[in-house]
Amino acid sequence: MNRTGHAHIATITAIAALSISASAQQRASDLGSILMQTPAVRAAVDFARTDEMRTIEDQIRICEVEAPPFQEAKRGELYATMLRETGLKNVRTDAEGNVIAERPGAGARPNVVLSAHLDTVFPRGTNVKVRRSGYVLRGPGIGDDCRGLADVLAVARALNKAGVTTPGTITFVGTVGEEGLGDLRGVKRLFNETLKDRIDRFISIDGEGLGVTHIAIGSARFRVTFKGPGGHSFGSFGVVNPVHALGRAMAKIADFQVPNSPRTTFNVGRIGGGTSVNAIASDAWMEVDLRSGDMTSLRALEKQFRQAVNDAVAQENTRWNSSALTVTIETVGMRPPGRLSSAAPIVQTAISVSRALSLPLSFSEGSTDANLPLSLGIPAVTIDAGGRGSGAHTENETYDATDAWKGTQRALLLTVALAQP
Ligand SMILES: [Zn+2]
Repeated sequence: MNRTGHAHIATITAIAALSISASAQQRASDLGSILMQTPAVRAAVDFARTDEMRTIEDQIRICEVEAPPFQEAKRGELYATMLRETGLKNVRTDAEGNVIAERPGAGARPNVVLSAHLDTVFPRGTNVKVRRSGYVLRGPGIGDDCRGLADVLAVARALNKAGVTTPGTITFVGTVGEEGLGDLRGVKRLFNETLKDRIDRFISIDGEGLGVTHIAIGSARFRVTFKGPGGHSFGSFGVVNPVHALGRAMAKIADFQVPNSPRTTFNVGRIGGGTSVNAIASDAWMEVDLRSGDMTSLRALEKQFRQAVNDAVAQENTRWNSSALTVTIETVGMRPPGRLSSAAPIVQTAISVSRALSLPLSFSEGSTDANLPLSLGIPAVTIDAGGRGSGAHTENETYDATDAWKGTQRALLLTVALAQP
């Protein structure tokens, strides 16, 4: 996951809320405390705490099976086995690699998905052995998102142990492709094909702490390659220069004016090209990341970026009275933005559940699996897994599981609340 915590509930102004017709969700702000009066739900919430050692063991077991980008299958197989062991039904893996399991309710709808992501940012061969000292766990991906995956299992186990029944169905999912160039391919497949039109609400458990992410920052990523004939720096002088064109484009991008609200950003992250100081390069490239919490702003920025690149090419060609310089712009990532009003029922439900468990409230914006459903208008939130963490996306990632059961309890109560009509 990728998150910033500077958006607080007080600053979230009215944005068109997703409408939801159902009755229980209209009482969303009380739902948490009402459910806590149900003996079975209460028992499940208690079990999520007393079963914490098992959750930690699961977290370690999952994390010690590597899951590099685009190579999540081995961890996915283990996860399917673990989901089956909790007693869930219809456990399967879809064509993208998402692992899916069901806990049928009285009816098929609402269908709430509780998910975490299988993939990590670490390449094959990374040492994934987890080092443990009491509640402190250290290893690549241990918090992001092995804890989320373990929480999903813990919720299923607690619901089954306590015999909780729900009006709607709960679908448990381990997704692929959440990180980086995975480009949300798991949730894209889940919503567009595997469970198309069959998901009513979506929860992703991703990140440490107890925050709730309900603003999805969209991103668009590009690799731009300039090409020319190349030549000797002295002998061929006068030939179009891809490195110079790259410089022209970067100078334009560096001067972009972007709105503060919605926060909109641009970055040229990597550049390269050429072979020698005394050669006119035959190619030069850059990787560019554009972000915004708002689709209109993101589209406008993309248009400005494409214009800058094309203008740079035209200027370099004009400079040398040539047409030999060419450019290709390849899209390497597209995560749609989406946002919910703080008055949206799913956000109110998340607040009521946190209150019912006496947990602090904090809101943030981020780029997670929830981006995709939010962009489709399907209510979705990303909740933190509990515990505390540091060093995410490094091999020294640390997760302190002290009191992490609070996150498990909240995930459980939120899932049950969203499985109400
Ligand atoms: Zn993550």
